[in-house]
Amino acid sequence: MRRVRQPKKSSRPPLRLRMVVLGVQGSGKGTQAELVARRFGLAHISTGEIFRREISRRTALGRRAERYLMAGKLVPDAVTNAIVGKHLRFGRARTHGFVLDGYPRNRAQLTALERATPVTHAIQILLPDRVAVQRISGRLNCACGLSYHVQYHPPRRRGICDRCGRKLFVRDDDQPATIRKRIRIYHRQTAPLLAYYRKRGVLLQVDGRPAIAAVFRRVLTQLRRSMATP
Ligand SMILES: [Zn+2]
Repeated sequence: MRRVRQPKKSSRPPLRLRMVVLGVQGSGKGTQAELVARRFGLAHISTGEIFRREISRRTALGRRAERYLMAGKLVPDAVTNAIVGKHLRFGRARTHGFVLDGYPRNRAQLTALERATPVTHAIQILLPDRVAVQRISGRLNCACGLSYHVQYHPPRRRGICDRCGRKLFVRDDDQPATIRKRIRIYHRQTAPLLAYYRKRGVLLQVDGRPAIAAVFRRVLTQLRRSMATP
């Protein structure tokens, strides 16, 4: 029997899913981004993480970003775009695709991303503001690095760390007034992105209220549905 000639690998480009995950603080978008990336073999690119990596490796971009962060300033879009762009161009992100988490945050970043590599899907994890406040304000931290949640992951003894016995505290960032302010900023910055992705027909919306596994199933259903329709 004659062997059928296999097409060369390079002549068959992989699916290359390029996704953005959007969601208010507390929506669990980071977790969903991680799960989606693992399921489809994509690179999970979280801006917080790649910033930390660039800074700890003392790269030229990392040093530039650090200068702003040390001064308590926002890192300019040009630097953020360069750092994210660099990570989109190598490894799994280049060969298989990526899930972006924490980027783009505004119009300038959106424009840069669309120019570099337009996304195939934008997944928005929906969560009412009230629930987001509830989720975040319940977070408890310990000086030893462990964290808890009054409702979802309470310590065995109220207000006391299971591991080291220290008293737990709420970070300033997690105080209700601060959270409400962060949520307002999130909506203001994200509205134009959502409008853009909706218009381009790549926006998927998933209810973020159920448990992590249930939200993930819905994300998968939506993704499969979107891939089935050309
Ligand atoms: Zn502790």
